[in-house]
Parts: sequence; structure tokens; C-alpha cells
Amino acid sequence: MTGDLFAPSRGRPRVVIVGGGFGGLRVARGLRHARADVVVIDRVNHHLFQPLLYQVATALLPPGDIAPPLRQILADQANTSVLLGEVTAVDPATRTVRADTADGADRAVPYDYLVIAAGTTDNYFGHDDWAAAAPGMKTLYQAIGLRSRLLHAFEAAAAAPDPGTRREWLTFAVVGAGPTGVELAGQLAALARRTLRREFHDLDPTHLRIVVVDAGHHVLAPFPQQLRRHTQRQLRRLGIEIVLGHTATAVDDTGLTVAPADSHDGSRRISARTVVWAAGVKPVPLAARLAAATNAATDHKGRVVVGDDCALPGHPDVFAIGDIANVHDLPGIAEPAIQQGRYVAELIKHRLGHRPHPGPFRYRDLGIMATISPFDAVADIRGLRLHGPLGKAAWAGVHLGFLVGWANRAAVLATWGWALGTRRRRQQLILTEATG
Ligand SMILES: Cc1cc2nc3c(=O)[nH]c(=O)nc-3n(C[C@H](O)[C@H](O)[C@H](O)COP(=O)(O)OP(=O)(O)OC[C@H]3O[C@@H](n4cnc5c(N)ncnc54)[C@H](O)[C@@H]3O)c2cc1C
Repeated sequence: MTGDLFAPSRGRPRVVIVGGGFGGLRVARGLRHARADVVVIDRVNHHLFQPLLYQVATALLPPGDIAPPLRQILADQANTSVLLGEVTAVDPATRTVRADTADGADRAVPYDYLVIAAGTTDNYFGHDDWAAAAPGMKTLYQAIGLRSRLLHAFEAAAAAPDPGTRREWLTFAVVGAGPTGVELAGQLAALARRTLRREFHDLDPTHLRIVVVDAGHHVLAPFPQQLRRHTQRQLRRLGIEIVLGHTATAVDDTGLTVAPADSHDGSRRISARTVVWAAGVKPVPLAARLAAATNAATDHKGRVVVGDDCALPGHPDVFAIGDIANVHDLPGIAEPAIQQGRYVAELIKHRLGHRPHPGPFRYRDLGIMATISPFDAVADIRGLRLHGPLGKAAWAGVHLGFLVGWANRAAVLATWGWALGTRRRRQQLILTEATG
């Protein structure tokens, strides 16, 4: 029993965790045997496995397979409660967070220890008005919306009488050539060429155009050069155009304008009815509010700078972890969030008196990976560089391993196998408010 969440804790200390993503969930799980009450507050009711979002957006996986409900995951953890709500403020003076809860109320939740693991949101670099024309892919809702948009584009192309309009509907521009952009572009090519080609008898496959734009000079910038080159070569073999060293300068419903990153001369227009934003993320607004409330510094990305115990300076009972925090300037990927989550759970258990001090946080770099096509992925695992089917096998093993729940792992593996064997996808649903 965790008692009344909105009353001060009595007897047992209360650990409030904001965010049930990679970092927050690790803290909660690490505290399952702790003599403390744990409250996980999230604005969504599920734990989202973001690395496979693009497979939901491209009609391969059903959303539930990558997003188990938090209550289900934590059901057997007697000391833990889940609260659906958006945390809007942190007040270290009263040791409370304020949350807009599911019943529409604004409530204070008292804490003894607080862990903020609220992650990031899309970064349009000052052009938030582009979001409607070029949606991002950060939430499950966005991924399902993108799926409808992508499938609708093929339907619109099939209905368009003139080849020019058809071409525009069949042009897909992805802004950002990091792992998210590359994986989405590769999977989109597979959706079009392996699956939809056999279903849309009247569409000319040569009209399909996928363009990936990035301001940098490499695809998959964080990867070693050998794997970057392999990726670029393979994307081109898939027919994907790569426009590097260019930034988007205008985006609307009919396409985008790009210009060389260092000047506006030589700008050009890409007519595309579907533009997807995969160019970057920034911490959720709660990061700035947390920094202001605790006088903590933020870095140039807006992340809260914390000590090497993941605590905010001067606030030893308030921690920030994962994408929202800067600990040793680690990259915004899942593994730092997971390791920091485990670490903070150990540190809190030490403070509660039943564990040795874990020492300062140290990151163990396990590597990075990204998938390109159904049979190709690149992986850099502690210096071991893999690509092609071997890379894909490593990628699949790691992603299945990190998915939460055996049922989800089995379902995803079965879907992958079926889709590889049959070239079919079972999630080709266009869902709109008007038509269902
Ligand atoms: C499309 C995509 C693909 C990716 N692919 C990879 C990959 O292949 N490999 C990899 O390592 N990393 C990948 N990442 C990055 C990885 O997902 C993140 O680094 C990781 O999720 C960070 O974990 P976190 O706990 O900090 O935040 P998250 O996992 O994002 O969790 C944050 C949680 O906080 C909740 N929240 C936010 N604000 C509030 C609030 N105010 N109140 C209550 N709850 C709130 C959110 O709903 C969310 O559940 C990818 C990210 C994206 C978007």
C-alpha cells in the first residue's frame, strides 16, 4: 500500500518519479524492494519504446507492442503507484510537485526524494509553426498520425489524375539524417517497394521519391566513418536521395525549401506532400522550470546540469536523469537514461539505509546501432563494427532484449518474421477523426 498520494508521507519515505520512460522506469524497478513508497507520474499511461516508433509509423508494428501500460508493468510492485498526470512545477521549498491529474484537477504531490526523467520533445529550432506541416515522431500518437499521413499519400497519388501531382504525393522528405531519419527513410522505402507496390497496381514505382535532408555533412553523424559510408551507400542503393549540408528554410503543406547550411544562396524547393521532422529534440519545458526552481544551470541544449551523483546542486534529494539532464555530457540515447536510472535507485536505497554507497555515476558505453533496411543495420558495439545481415541480427537481438515484456517481444519477433517472409504488413490503417 502506498497510502494517499496527495498527503505528506507518513512513516515510509516517498520517492516521486516524473516520467515512466527508459530512465524513470529503471528507478521504479530498482526500488521494488526498497522500504519506501514509490509514485510514478507520467502524462501518458504507457512506457514507450521510442526506438521502434518508426515501425509503427510505417504500418509494421501495432502501437501496443511497443508501449505496455505502466500500471501493467508495475502491477506486481506492491510499494509502487502510478499516477496519470502532467507535472507542471516543482517546489523544493515545500517538497512537492504540482500535477494536472487525469480528473482535471491541479494537485500537489509531496515527495521525500524526487527523480525527474521527463525526456525531450521535438526541436524545430525556433520554427514551431512548421510542426503542422512537418510532424515529428516522438510520441505514439504522432507515430499513428504519421502512419495515416503516409498511407494517405499513396491513396492520394493513386487518385491523382496528372503525373505531376502524383509525383508530389509520392515524394517524402525526411528532415534529419540521424538514426531516426535514416531508419524512417529506409523503412518507408521498404513499405513502398516491398508492400504497397503489389497492392497499388496503377502506381508507377519510379515516381516514388524519398529525400533525406541534413544540415551536417554525414548521415548517422555519431557513427564511425566506415559505418557512415556504408549507410550512405546503402540508402542510395535503395533509391533514397541524400541532401547533406542543407537546412530547411521554409516548410509548408506542399514541401520544403532547403539552402546550404552556411548561406541562403542556392536554395531550392523540394515539392513533397509529406514532410517528416526528425532533425532534433530538446528537453521538455519542465526542465527549464526545474532549473529555475532549484537555481540549477542548463547547458546549450537546455538540459539541466547535475552533479556526478545525478542530483541537482544544493538539492541532494532531487535528481534529474536521462535526456533531460546533463551528466558528463552523455548523448541523448536510451542507455545513459537506463544506467542513470539504475544508479539513482541504488543511491536512494543507500540513503534509506539498506545499500552501500554506489560511488559517483560512471557510464559504461555499450555502443550505438541503427537499421537501414530489412536485412541491413549498422552497429558499433565497443569497437566491434558490424553491418549487413550480421549488423541486423545484432540490432534485432538488442532491440528485442530492451523491449518490456515477453509477450511484446514474442509478438514483435513474430511480426518481423511474417513481414520478412510475406512482404506484407498488418497495420495499414488510415485513422482520421472524420472517417474513423
Ligand atoms: C524516434 C526515436 C528513435 C530513437 N531511437 C533510439 C535508438 O535506436 N537507440 C537509443 O539508444 N535511443 C533512441 N532514441 C532515444 C531514446 O528513446 C531516449 O534517449 C530515451 O527515451 C530517453 O529516456 P528518458 O527516460 O530520458 O526519457 P523518455 O524515455 O522520453 O521518457 C520520458 C517520459 O516522461 C514523460 N513526461 C514528459 N514530460 C512530462 C511531464 N511534464 N509530466 C509527466 N510526465 C512527463 C513522457 O510521457 C515519457 O513517458 C530514440 C528516440 C526517438 C524519439
